[in-house]
Amino acid sequence: MLKSIKNYFSEIFRGVKSLLTGMKVTGHYFTHPSEIVTQQYPENRDTLQMFDRFRGEVFLIHDENNEHACTGCSACELACPNGTIEIISDKAIDPETGKPKKIIDTFVYHLSMCTFCNLCIIACPTDAIKMSKTYEHAVYDRTKLTKILNKPGSKIMKGIKE
Ligand code: SF4
Ligand code: SF4
Repeated sequence: MLKSIKNYFSEIFRGVKSLLTGMKVTGHYFTHPSEIVTQQYPENRDTLQMFDRFRGEVFLIHDENNEHACTGCSACELACPNGTIEIISDKAIDPETGKPKKIIDTFVYHLSMCTFCNLCIIACPTDAIKMSKTYEHAVYDRTKLTKILNKPGSKIMKGIKE
């Protein structure tokens, strides 16, 4: 009987101690709001900045002239461990040499298969691709996760060699 009363009070004591420990953490962040790391998503959607090393999705860099640095060499496709990238290349006459040279026709990227390992980015000899910081990829139609990365009408920048 005495033992069960002792256990009863010891449980109450442990409960109060645990509550106070939790309240201490809450109180700390209440008085130090600058240390709070929790993001109020999606309310902060307009201002949310992902950290520098965040890997959202692969994209092909285009400049203001709609030019990119992709030669269609397929190094990224070969480096990808799971077939996320498909490079469909074509041939065109190089105006500098007058000889046919490989060019990119379609850069297909299956976002739904990408593990964001970054191997394609490392493999690219011309730094044509990068990881973006986009983070909202939810869609109702999974075909929307297959993207063409070279923009319509885009072409390779001058001076980029395979
Ligand atoms: S990040 Fe990795 S998985 Fe995604 S396309 Fe590049 S190599 Fe493939
Ligand atoms: S993105 Fe880079 S590695 Fe991939 S095909 Fe283009 S130039 Fe080659």
